[in-house]
Formats: sequence, structure tokens, C-alpha cells
Amino acid sequence: MADAISFSESELSKRVRLADVVPLEKPFTIQFDVSSVCNLKCEFCPIHGSAQKMVVKKQTRFFDFEQFTKCIDDIKDSFGCVKQILFTGSGEPLLNPRIVDMIKYISDSKTAERITVITNGLLLTNELSDKLIDSGLSLLRVSVNGLSSQDYKHYTGTDMDFEKYVDRLRYFYEHKNSTQVYIKIMNYMVDSDEQKKQFYDTFSSICDIINVENVYDMGGNGKFDNIDKSQLNQAIFSDIQSEPLICSIPFYTFYINSELDIYPCCEGMLKNCIYKPLENLKNSGIKSIWNKTMRDFQYKMIDGKPKFEYCKQCTFSLALSKREDLLDDDSEEIKERYDKLLMKG
Ligand code: SF4
Ligand code: SF4
Repeated sequence: MADAISFSESELSKRVRLADVVPLEKPFTIQFDVSSVCNLKCEFCPIHGSAQKMVVKKQTRFFDFEQFTKCIDDIKDSFGCVKQILFTGSGEPLLNPRIVDMIKYISDSKTAERITVITNGLLLTNELSDKLIDSGLSLLRVSVNGLSSQDYKHYTGTDMDFEKYVDRLRYFYEHKNSTQVYIKIMNYMVDSDEQKKQFYDTFSSICDIINVENVYDMGGNGKFDNIDKSQLNQAIFSDIQSEPLICSIPFYTFYINSELDIYPCCEGMLKNCIYKPLENLKNSGIKSIWNKTMRDFQYKMIDGKPKFEYCKQCTFSLALSKREDLLDDDSEEIKERYDKLLMKG
């Protein structure tokens, strides 16, 4: 098979200009946190890392399957089909014992155009890979954390067999059918040309899309001993240079954890030891969450994020935004659109 293309060449990087289409009738992406536990202890992780650990309060370990199917049914009834359902969050999604069933449920009910799992990939056995591929998974996004077993020990505090890991990823890729595989590493783990070459030599023949992303200090809690601090908090995709005033993330997505709490983003959820969720699905349906809770949050956000407790000091909008997401220059017109919509009730 051909070598992987870069993220910027891939369909994944193509976005609509958000300022032209907000307020959205339905979110582009709904994110699920299906596991609050992880098999790694990455030095940069605000929850499981060795630095100041955030405590993910109250949360049960795994999203319950029955609750999950109710959420998917609610999404289906509310919106028909959304662009993407994304498994991500406070832990490793592949640890959830029902992850394959969850993906299959979305796929069978045609509730999302794309079903994505973000994983560290260490739990992929050939058997699990076969099941994930058969379940209807669209995109496996693998975060690689080093180029050797020693690197993994250093960056993730975990013993592993790097050769076996690469072999397992190769198995997934060779049997993947229509599932796409995206592999990325953070720039500080491959900071010499030689290391970058080693990364591309090792992985570009076993994935569809490959990328070296800028490191981001998630939650401001990473422990980065060997890194020039000026390298932290740049845009992950090198797309924009400075922090936007309006965070665009809650304009196209929201986040559900295993307690059915709703957050505007995973950054908000990561800080849930400090901040309350916006809503809980036990009190409200998905449609009302989007049309009321999220729309209220978006409306306030048009005036700029510094006034939100949630958003003070958060630089996630710089980290994740692409040029097409920026709303600052169109804020007046966007506000008028929201005013009209809110007047209609
Ligand atoms: S794999 Fe992800 S969730 Fe797990 S420790 Fe690393 S950064 Fe945290
Ligand atoms: S600024 Fe940060 S905390 Fe606020 S909505 Fe955006 S990503 Fe979430």
C-alpha cells in the first residue's frame, strides 16, 4: 500500500468556514468520554500523569452501555445523523469493555457519518483490531508516544514492547477495510531530523495519515522537564499564531461523560474538579442541550471567552483551532444572527 499522506493533505483537515454557518442546527461532532481510566501515565497528562494530578470527580470508570444506547437514540431522534461521534476524553477508550458494541450501535443506526476513536493503541490485539474494523469504525487516531520501549518508559512511565506495538498497528492497517488509520506523535518526542525520519520510516507505511503535532500543555498541568517552555501552547496543527478571543469549539461540539454531564469541550471536563458541568442529560434531552444550553453558552462566548470561569487561562482554542474556525472578525454579524434566532424563541 502507498505511504501515508500528511494531515494537511487529508480530508480531515478540510473545514467549512465556521463564521458562515453558525449557529448550527446540529453539532458537527458529539464527544463521548467512555473510560476514565488509562493504561499509561503520560508525563503530559493532566489526569493520569505524574505531575499535579487532577481528580476526575464522581465519574464512574466506564460509560454504561445501556445509557450510551439511550444517548445515541436521542441523538438520532434529535438530529438524524451528525458528522462525527468521537470517543475521547479522560482515559483510554479501548479499556471500555463495550467499546466495540458502542461503535456498532452507532454504525448500525447510522447516527454519524464518521465514528472516530482516539487511542494510545497499546491495547490493540489482532483480535480486537478485527472486531473494531468489523464494527463500522471510520477512523482510528493513534497517539504514538515514542520510538522505542525506552522512550515509552520515559514519556509514559509504562513498560511495553515497541516492536510488538508496531506489529499490531501493522496488522490493523493490513486488515482495515474502510477504516482509516491516523498516526501522530508530538514534536518534542522527535525533535531531531534523525528522529523525525525514524518516525516516518516506522509508521508511514502502516497508516493512511501521519502527522507530527505541536505539543500542547493540556489543562496546564503537564510535567515537561526536557522541553523549552516556549514550545508549549502553540497551535497543534501550526495553523494560527495567537489565541482567538472567541473560542470556536463549543459552536460545533459538546462533550458527554459517563455521569451524563455535559461540557462545552474536553478541556472543561478535564477541569471538572473545579467547574460544574453545563447540564446533565438526566434533566434534559440532547436537542434541548444543543438548542438551549449550548446556544446560551455560544451566545455569551461571542463577547469573548475571558469572562467565563471555564475558559480563563484556557488556550485550547489556540491549540485546536484552524483558520476556518476563527470567529473574531465576524462577531458582530454572528451576534445579529443569534439575536434574531433567540427572538424567534
Ligand atoms: S494515553 Fe492519554 S489519557 Fe492516557 S495517560 Fe496518556 S495522555 Fe493521559
Ligand atoms: S476556551 Fe477552553 S474551556 Fe472554554 S470553551 Fe474553549 S476549550 Fe473549553
